[in-house]
Amino acid sequence: MNTADLIKQFPIIEQLQAHTETLWTNPHLEPTKAALEKAPLTYADVLDAEARLQRFAPYLQLAFPETEKSKGIIESVLDPIPRMQRELEAAYTVALPGRFFMKYDSHLPISGSIKARGGIYEVLKHAETLAIEAGRLHVQDDYAKLLSEEFRKFFSKYSIAVGSTGNLGLSIGIMSAKLGFHVTVHMSADAKAWKKELLREKGVEVIEYESDYSLAVERGREQAAADPFCHFIDDENSTDLFLGYAVAGLRLKQQLEQKGLPVDAEHPLYVYLPCGVGGGPGGVAFGLKHAFGDDVHCFFAEPTHSPCMLLGLVTDIHDAISVEDIGLDNKTEADGLAVGRASGFVGNVMKPMLAGAYTVSDETLFALLGKFHEMEGVFLEPSALAGLFGPVHLARAGQLENAKSATHLIWATGGGMVPAEMRSEYLAKAREARP
Ligand SMILES: *Cc1c(COP(=O)(O)O)cnc(C)c1O
Repeated sequence: MNTADLIKQFPIIEQLQAHTETLWTNPHLEPTKAALEKAPLTYADVLDAEARLQRFAPYLQLAFPETEKSKGIIESVLDPIPRMQRELEAAYTVALPGRFFMKYDSHLPISGSIKARGGIYEVLKHAETLAIEAGRLHVQDDYAKLLSEEFRKFFSKYSIAVGSTGNLGLSIGIMSAKLGFHVTVHMSADAKAWKKELLREKGVEVIEYESDYSLAVERGREQAAADPFCHFIDDENSTDLFLGYAVAGLRLKQQLEQKGLPVDAEHPLYVYLPCGVGGGPGGVAFGLKHAFGDDVHCFFAEPTHSPCMLLGLVTDIHDAISVEDIGLDNKTEADGLAVGRASGFVGNVMKPMLAGAYTVSDETLFALLGKFHEMEGVFLEPSALAGLFGPVHLARAGQLENAKSATHLIWATGGGMVPAEMRSEYLAKAREARP
């Protein structure tokens, strides 16, 4: 279908073309039970992933001392952000009732972004499968033994490849290298220099491409296909990545219970998730729907220049359309969100369970970055601020009027590993941005 026909059928596309910050509510939303039944993955799959992460905890605790405090469990804190909530109300002259919380995946151990969930999980699962098949490991074993020279030698016969704009490469690279794998990260030209340097320091092979993310992914895929000892981590189609993220939903349920925060029909939970290709936010949303059913409302956030998931959902053709097809340039400072074509797998799973999606401009992201740093004293990378604009969109659309006792949870997806120099650059830019 050509663009003119698409616009006639879905006028919202014109707003996307104009880079207007846009809110889309999902007309295909179904009751959670029906939606989850359509998915190719089940609750048992999420529990299996959680159990696997438990098995690896004794290993992670030793391999990465920063996980000692949490006994090898990679989980982030949840903190109230009342000052930022008031600041949002003032800056955008909207009323934002309810309680606001930040979920700090930005400060997850090992790789400082949401990718420390899915990325690390897939590498661990692959390592476990290889070791079990070789008769060297049993699920009852103490996985701390994986730290031995014997296992590093065993894994060094195998390689792992991934195409990445940055954060996925960091998480896969750091985890794979630690286990002893030979790991190659195919990176697009727009990937930040410090990420490439950090990976090379850890012994990761980094290959750079002049063009964008899609080509980096293609090359990674080709390299792996030619080598039976190479496992390719497929950001667009991997169910393992997805399940690694989904575990967050179950853990969040415990976290909210511990804080005494109810989630029910009177106290709905709104969750705002920055979206690139879709696996991270999709996996988390899938876990959240299992944990909270109809009482959780998940929204995806994308840059105005890269609304690939929103476009795929609106047109209902998912990965058969890219943002370039409607004339957008897919250029944004939001690392991890500069994706032109969404995952078809994730789009199809989300179709009946996502409450909606929206876009946010880079200028808004920088303004929020500055305000958040000022109000809460925490630095986040631009993409990690995308969630904060969700409640503003909903309030403007009058969708929060009956949600006075809601909990709003903003998923801060990255920023923990950004070097000091880059932080100053981002903060300088933030001072010039208008809300
Ligand atoms: C990767 C990433 C996302 C989005 O995850 P996808 O799986 O690509 O949708 C969001 N924020 C940050 C900081 C990321 O690195």
